[in-house]
Amino acid sequence: MAQECVLIVEPSRTLATLLERSIHGKLGMLTETAYTYKDAADLLSVAPDRFYVALVDVDLSDADQGDVVDLVTGHGVPCMVLTHQENKGLRRKLFSRNIIDYWIKEYSGNYEYVVQAIEQLTRNHEHKVLIVDDSRGFRRLVSLLLSRKRYDVLEADHGGDALNILAKHPDIRLVITDYEMPEVNGFELTHRIRMLYDKSRVGVIGLSSSEEDGISARFLKIGANDFLKKPFEVEEFYCRISQNLEMLDLFHQIKTASNTDFLTQLFNRKYFFEVAPAMLKRALYAEQTMAVAMIDIDFFKKINDVYGHDGGDVALVETAQRIKAKFRPQDVVARFGGEEFCVLFGPIEMASAKRKLEELCEEMRTLDIPFRNKTIRLTLSVGLRLAVSEDLDQEISLADKLLYDAKHSGRDQVIVSS
Ligand SMILES: [Mg+2]
Repeated sequence: MAQECVLIVEPSRTLATLLERSIHGKLGMLTETAYTYKDAADLLSVAPDRFYVALVDVDLSDADQGDVVDLVTGHGVPCMVLTHQENKGLRRKLFSRNIIDYWIKEYSGNYEYVVQAIEQLTRNHEHKVLIVDDSRGFRRLVSLLLSRKRYDVLEADHGGDALNILAKHPDIRLVITDYEMPEVNGFELTHRIRMLYDKSRVGVIGLSSSEEDGISARFLKIGANDFLKKPFEVEEFYCRISQNLEMLDLFHQIKTASNTDFLTQLFNRKYFFEVAPAMLKRALYAEQTMAVAMIDIDFFKKINDVYGHDGGDVALVETAQRIKAKFRPQDVVARFGGEEFCVLFGPIEMASAKRKLEELCEEMRTLDIPFRNKTIRLTLSVGLRLAVSEDLDQEISLADKLLYDAKHSGRDQVIVSS
């Protein structure tokens, strides 16, 4: 990262040191500290781009309250405030001067939140957010607020446009949509988004300034994750955005964990049977050639006996990585259990499926897997067949029979149905 420096503007040396240590220790980011307004102006006068964010106290002895905020934002540096005063007027005034966050020093634990907020900020660019509003002014405002927090922002001026952008950017995590728009309004857009993506995949926040009854409830019932009434307070807006994204991340983590084999990080058997049957059906319907392979590590029990279970685990992880690297994103590779793996190839010719698997066998045969100060060597046996029916269980059990043949005719080979 080019800008990994945090500017701290803090008159108390004790607190400044505490923040420096905490930011450096927990985030590994550099810090530069100013104790006065003049110090801050000096640091910002040269290459202000080096500052990723500034953390400032608004009460400095050599300037009026809040002047430092204008100094910092004037140099294009996102500004977070840490201050002594719990003062509603000040809070609102500072948010109108474009700060991105605000904390009261007296509350214990706040310093930890500050560091967490900086860490969050460094990850915000990974979140793509789409703003949909027919009012150009409002769109610009929301876009600016989000850009200040370093989110990756896209804009659409109506629902139809939003659907096109969503199709082009499958990594959009959150859609913020106005209710009243010409043609496709916010309800219709939310409804269409929900037909394509569930709540954990793309979050939707509805917005409306309408006094009409029940808008928020209707948004939520159609499938929006949250709702905000226009005009909103900037601080609340930021809180809702980050909470919704946090929730989406959590959903994603849980989903990934439940689909993944913990040891090898390959998909597990459960996930395989969730996605593979439909994939096979679609391909056969489109008259494409699909193949199924069962892969097994030879004499795995012996590896466990000689190197212990830790050695067996290392062998499994290494094998899983090699298998995964060999196949394409359209192939589904899963650990079925023990030392057994299954691959459902996306559309592929038999000859090239066979070649890939033979290359894999060759790679594993010649690979030295380091374990402590020893080296583990292993080979694979593979059964491969063209999938001809929609009955995936049967296809797998036939591939398994071929694997059995490979084991019983010498191992370390790929056997294909004749
Ligand atoms: Mg509107």
